[in-house]
Amino acid sequence: ANQNLFAALRDAFPSDLDSTAIETADGERLFYTWRDIDHATARIANLLQWLDLPEGARVAVQTEKSVEALLLYLAVLRAGYVYLPLNTAYQSSEIEYFIGNAEPSVVVCSGKNFGWVSKIAFKAGCKHVFTLNEDRSGSLLERASHHGDKHEPMQRSADDLAAILYTSGTTGRSKGAMLSHGNLLSNARTLKDYWGWREGDVLVHALPIFHVHGLFVASHGALLNGSKMLWFGKFAPRAVVERLPEATVFMGVPTLYVRLLGEASFTREACRNMRLFISGSAPLLIETFNEFKSRTGHTILERYGMSETVMLTSNPCDPKDGERKGGTVGFPLPGVGVRVHDDQGRPVARGEIGGIEVKGPNVFSGYWRMPEKTKEEFTADGWFKTGDVGKFDEQGYVVIVGRSKDLIITGGYNVYPAEIEGVLNELPGVAESAVIGVPHPDFGEGVVAVVVKKPGASLEAVALIGELKSRIANFKVPKHLFVVDELPRNAMGKVQKNLLREQHKGLFA
Ligand code: ATP
Ligand code: MG
Repeated sequence: ANQNLFAALRDAFPSDLDSTAIETADGERLFYTWRDIDHATARIANLLQWLDLPEGARVAVQTEKSVEALLLYLAVLRAGYVYLPLNTAYQSSEIEYFIGNAEPSVVVCSGKNFGWVSKIAFKAGCKHVFTLNEDRSGSLLERASHHGDKHEPMQRSADDLAAILYTSGTTGRSKGAMLSHGNLLSNARTLKDYWGWREGDVLVHALPIFHVHGLFVASHGALLNGSKMLWFGKFAPRAVVERLPEATVFMGVPTLYVRLLGEASFTREACRNMRLFISGSAPLLIETFNEFKSRTGHTILERYGMSETVMLTSNPCDPKDGERKGGTVGFPLPGVGVRVHDDQGRPVARGEIGGIEVKGPNVFSGYWRMPEKTKEEFTADGWFKTGDVGKFDEQGYVVIVGRSKDLIITGGYNVYPAEIEGVLNELPGVAESAVIGVPHPDFGEGVVAVVVKKPGASLEAVALIGELKSRIANFKVPKHLFVVDELPRNAMGKVQKNLLREQHKGLFA
């Protein structure tokens, strides 16, 4: 049978093709039926095929979020090409890197960027540059409108490439993770089951679609369940709260939860029809988890995944599988292997910290055009080294304590930033914190903390350090502590510790 992911998604369309699949919830109010999705993706797929692209051609896309951009993704799958989404924040030097690296046959960009993007694309040998704007104007849809609305999804096997997702670049230069139709479909099916997607579910889609979370986890979830999406071009807490009574499922990165809690209209009443709130992409603070529970009565389900593997672990949805435990990312998903190993590649005892390694039908085949890097990141027995450090707790929940690149070694001792951040965050007046290591002439690295204060609070570095001294071992106590207004974050809300390290690298020189 055809293993094309699009074919599986289309098979899941509800029998009433004239019911609403997507309703835009901000800006112009638009309704897309399942038939609209079928026809629009067929037209774009027909256009792409008519271009006569080489086998395995990449279609690189940097546009503002729109329903049509999602349809373009689906059309690329349908036509059997490889989808390559790019962060809307990327500027010319970044686009030059990605286009030069991926050598796409087709580039789709916003009309306002056509001048500089097309120049980069043509220089890299790309022959087709289309435009797609938020208001549905642009050459892509114009050209597609001349093609038919019927299209048989191209025959693809589970191992065929479906997408290249560049990682968020939190720890260094972004790498292109090559994901197959089988990687994506197996994970989508597992999540549909594990998160109990059911008839009548409606998803609030308020995430960007250039990343795993919004493009795969959220969209595939709704599509595979034949569920309607309430579609937000941008996340605005008040607008989302207003439409929440019409929805049952919400997915967000931790900052979205913080922003929802900052909205007075976000109450138990506003959540009355909600079934599930899911968080991921970055650690959810236990404070946010607790405040959310007392405000809404809902327990956020935190899960863990990455560009290279889609989703790996999840807190339970169904109470019979266990409680949702704050500060953990839950259990390995069915069919996904998760193990914790030390630097020598030996398994550690339960409760001990080590490198998280994973295996499963969801795990990518390698980094695009980086065979050396790919080899380094897989063990001899075929497990992928996530680069995250963590442990299994007594009940088998996975706890992430940080990234191996963020581990601090000071005077020969290992210091896990998350542990110190946890202690700091509990101190009065502290909103959040980031603990980093910077070069130190005597200790190798010196521990440094960057702390954000709560609105209205006043914090003294000396007093905070004094507090820490009474709570944790001296070698873990930051030698310097900075109080700031906010932490540097990338588009996915991840704290960019590499920027902090760069900023403070001369501190002990
Ligand atoms: P790069 O690999 O380029 O440095 P990145 O790792 O941030 O960037 P992504 O693939 O977008 O790129 O993010 C995956 C990472 O996000 C995981 O490896 C993990 O560190 C973090 N992450 C995801 N979900 C969670 C979670 N629930 N709790 C803690 N960390 C999480
Ligand atoms: Mg990564």
